[in-house]
Amino acid sequence: MNLCAMNLARDFGPRAARAILPISKLAAMNRTDMWRRIEAHPKAWDMIVVGGGATGVGVAIDAAARGYDVLLVEQSDFGKGTSSRSTKLAHGGVRYLEQGNIGLVMEALKERGLLLQNAPHIVHDLAFVVPNYDWWEAPFYGLGLKLYQLLAGKYGFGASRILSREETLKYLPTLKTEGLRGGAVYYDGQFDDARLLIHMVATAFEQGATLLNYVEVTGLTKDAQGFVDGISARNLETGNEFRATAKVVVNATGAFSDRLRLKAEPAAAPMIVPSQGIHLVFDASFLQGESAVMVPHTSDGRVLFAIPWHGHTLVGTTDTPIASATLEPVAMEQEIEFILATAGQYLTKAPKRDDVLSVFAGIRPLARETGAVSGALSTAALSRDHVIHIDRSGLVTVCGGKWTTYRHMAEDCVDQAATLAQLPDRPCLTHHLHIHGFHEIGKEEAAKEFGSLAVYGSDAREIRKLIAADAGLGEPLHAALPYVKAEVIWAARHEMARTVEDTLARRTRALFLNARAALAMAPDVALDGF
Ligand SMILES: Cc1cc2nc3c(=O)[nH]c(=O)nc-3n(C[C@H](O)[C@H](O)[C@H](O)COP(=O)(O)OP(=O)(O)OC[C@H]3O[C@@H](n4cnc5c(N)ncnc54)[C@H](O)[C@@H]3O)c2cc1C
Repeated sequence: MNLCAMNLARDFGPRAARAILPISKLAAMNRTDMWRRIEAHPKAWDMIVVGGGATGVGVAIDAAARGYDVLLVEQSDFGKGTSSRSTKLAHGGVRYLEQGNIGLVMEALKERGLLLQNAPHIVHDLAFVVPNYDWWEAPFYGLGLKLYQLLAGKYGFGASRILSREETLKYLPTLKTEGLRGGAVYYDGQFDDARLLIHMVATAFEQGATLLNYVEVTGLTKDAQGFVDGISARNLETGNEFRATAKVVVNATGAFSDRLRLKAEPAAAPMIVPSQGIHLVFDASFLQGESAVMVPHTSDGRVLFAIPWHGHTLVGTTDTPIASATLEPVAMEQEIEFILATAGQYLTKAPKRDDVLSVFAGIRPLARETGAVSGALSTAALSRDHVIHIDRSGLVTVCGGKWTTYRHMAEDCVDQAATLAQLPDRPCLTHHLHIHGFHEIGKEEAAKEFGSLAVYGSDAREIRKLIAADAGLGEPLHAALPYVKAEVIWAARHEMARTVEDTLARRTRALFLNARAALAMAPDVALDGF
């Protein structure tokens, strides 16, 4: 079943209003308070950020932490775009090493280390095994992965090494044995992308930013000199239009970046080359053990991962150039077939269509130099470097890059936006800024104490308190998934979930793990949360 097939009701009106009553002394993020902040705001904001994905929220955290006055608006839910649809790897990108982009790999490896340091409740290390079926693969990949490890320097995750056939099968018991010679193991980071994003929204809020979901920027306003000085926007829950002014507007709309740029400069040359990637989700039996498979060269020249994630097996991804971006991209038949066929070459139990529990597609906002002509471009070969582009109108666009490098992208962007807007010079503070939910408990201890709630970090205790006050809230919402009713309440009251789909897709990950189970949970989620 495709995610897109599930077009659940968007707005639960008065129920949503009831759901945002605060339940504890914690400063809860809620939309009513955010609106009050906007209405009470007397003057121009220092910065308005358009787009509530990893890039935009990263910019909001950075700018707010420096003490700038920041408003962020997102047209749908936080993370509705690409940032909830990634492979969920905090990685340097072994493939970019092969492409010779050492600078990008080193930057991403450093950011991977900072992510683990600042959000250890959501990011953890994972062993990746490259299986070898030809004699030359072990020395070739062994050497490459050693370089990958060395480039990480003090931000290293673990030593890579060459594995015998038996060792390879210990890591990956469900790997095809026919022709298997051995493998190479290396370490990268894994995280829950939408969960990290929601905790980043909370972090930006704690730093003083105002953030609103379901607000679409419909236009950009300009001053007498023709410089962008604000936004016209629509509150999609009420239909009300409003304007807000700012010293600088940052366009962090990912694959939609060119659309916003055209609102400022109708003749702007396109920067974004959109490329779609999909993932299929299966049950855990397809990939037993706690390690991931990394296939460095698929028939279309990409890497393919099979990864254990939240008790399931995630397989992806493709890299298909597409004409334009949509908010609900749909997996193409040939992409699904490609992933099934490639996974079947490596796993003892070849996954079939009937085994697919969920499919999700995302769009890479790959950036090219403005004015470059794409022609028959292979998007897999396009750089994952980020670009910060300032249009003649003064609109600052930040795009490209990777989830892993969001913090560095934000630092670069805020440096440039602050200079452009002549904001007071203030240093970046995010290198050591803990992400909301940070606590000192180790991964194993947290899993033992909080089970599936461990991903909430310190918030897990608050969710536990809800269950302690009402045991019914500890009831699972579906036998196939670990989610309980208290998480729905938490999402509506503390994490600005506005719809059933917000809760199923990006507060819990039910829709990404098992679409049928998510559909069955929907009525209870609507009753409990909205
Ligand atoms: C298949 C796939 C796998 C990936 N895997 C990884 C990985 O494992 N590791 C990694 O590091 N990176 C990965 N990436 C890259 C990473 O996911 C992206 O670089 C990142 O999520 C982009 O974030 P963003 O905020 O720029 O874009 P988005 O998350 O798309 O956010 C842009 C937001 O802007 C909003 N918006 C657009 N127009 C407006 C408007 N007019 N008004 C208000 N809001 C608007 C959209 O609704 C959207 O939410 C992957 C990408 C894909 C596609």
